[in-house]
Amino acid sequence: MTTLADPVPGGRPGDVDRATALAGELSGQGVHGVVLSYVDTAGIGRVKTIPTAKLAAAAAWGVGMSPVFDTFLANDSIVTTDVLGSPDGDLRLYPDLDHLVVLAGQPGWAWAPVDRITQEGEPHPGCGRTVLRRIVVEAAKRHGLTFRAGIEVEWAVGQGPVAAGEFVPALHGPAYGATRQVELSDYTADLLAAFAAQGVDVEQLHPEYAAGQFEVSVGALDPVAAADRSVLVRQTIRAVARRHGLVVSFAPAVFAQGVGNGGHLHLSAWRDGRNLHSGGTGRHGMTAEAESFVAGVLAHLPALTAVTAPSPASYLRLKPSQWAGVFTAWGHETREAAVRIVTGTAGLREQAANLEVKPVDLAANPYLALTCVIAAGLDGLTSSAPLAEEITGDPARLSEREAAARDVRRLPTSLTEAVEEFRADERLRSALGSVLADAVIAVRQGEIAAVGGYDDERVAAAYRWTY
Ligand code: GLU
Ligand code: MG
Repeated sequence: MTTLADPVPGGRPGDVDRATALAGELSGQGVHGVVLSYVDTAGIGRVKTIPTAKLAAAAAWGVGMSPVFDTFLANDSIVTTDVLGSPDGDLRLYPDLDHLVVLAGQPGWAWAPVDRITQEGEPHPGCGRTVLRRIVVEAAKRHGLTFRAGIEVEWAVGQGPVAAGEFVPALHGPAYGATRQVELSDYTADLLAAFAAQGVDVEQLHPEYAAGQFEVSVGALDPVAAADRSVLVRQTIRAVARRHGLVVSFAPAVFAQGVGNGGHLHLSAWRDGRNLHSGGTGRHGMTAEAESFVAGVLAHLPALTAVTAPSPASYLRLKPSQWAGVFTAWGHETREAAVRIVTGTAGLREQAANLEVKPVDLAANPYLALTCVIAAGLDGLTSSAPLAEEITGDPARLSEREAAARDVRRLPTSLTEAVEEFRADERLRSALGSVLADAVIAVRQGEIAAVGGYDDERVAAAYRWTY
């Protein structure tokens, strides 16, 4: 379980001693530096690094970094809100020692996710990891709920080096094809070894559908740990690829046309050790609370896309009949519904049952995405929201009348539409807090302006290598 307490100046109790011992161990293993990692509002991973010898000082006093990155765009230009985007001020980055790992794909380095607090020791309202910790604490306190989550990672592997900006797939076999597995045999074996060395519990790794595409899924964790893990998994995939002379893209749409890279989010709610998505009297074994949770996610989904699909390139991926789930529909193991109910195999259901949210990509800040999906679900649960009729098959083929009867609506088709939905969704905005919600709106508007007048291919190219 992730430590849910905020960092404090001087260090969380026990952390400094622990960091001192850890630094000694790390140095003994040849680790020279620690990467301190977080994700900004635009979905870009940002880092500071410290020499291993400074780990105890970082656990006590944090490491400085400007809050300006909260309103950075993917192209590194800066927008502003009432509170953020100014060149003034500084924050302290505190590593979470529970989630520090030695990076197998980057010899000499360890990695840790950070929480950011102010120099006065106050929580920083722009820190997504802090906001996610908050909603997890609140759900436990108010509703007696805990969550298990996992984020799938899809990525395209390209040959490197090629002409700047270009993507040339590093493999050619068919989707899920045995030939693809052979083509990148050494790379994927090294990747599995790196994950194992880092304690990343891989469920499966397979060649996917799109050009050069692979996917990895990992075991469920508490939401904060699941978000951290998604960042670590991508750092590892990228690092191991480089050692093989390959390049990787996590962009929602590597090309303007065709299937993109998803980052499907799996989530289950639990009370007193019982999975609410299994063993209930509702549909597919859901409890009444789980049904309402799903209804909440579906109701907020149009606004959620501003957080789960935050890039102009996300809307090149979010097209019907490409497994990205672009209708507010749910179904049992239905891969075209935005929410897929996973019941798991007989015998494993109590552990495995969960819901999968599909219109999520890897441009999303995973901390913000999980915060908003949980907030949406809790909104449904607390209001005992009724869950619409389920769908089977592709909702794209439903007639207007059938779609209306099941409350099936098309999700936003552009980032502009998504931002308008988000702006109107008070529940999601308050889950993030006004500082972060305003940053989401400003950053999305900045991204929209940054690609103003671009055709689809140019949009895909603009974000191909950023995430
Ligand atoms: N690549 C698809 C997406 O963009 C998902 C394929 C799958 O169902 O795993 O979301
Ligand atoms: Mg997939």
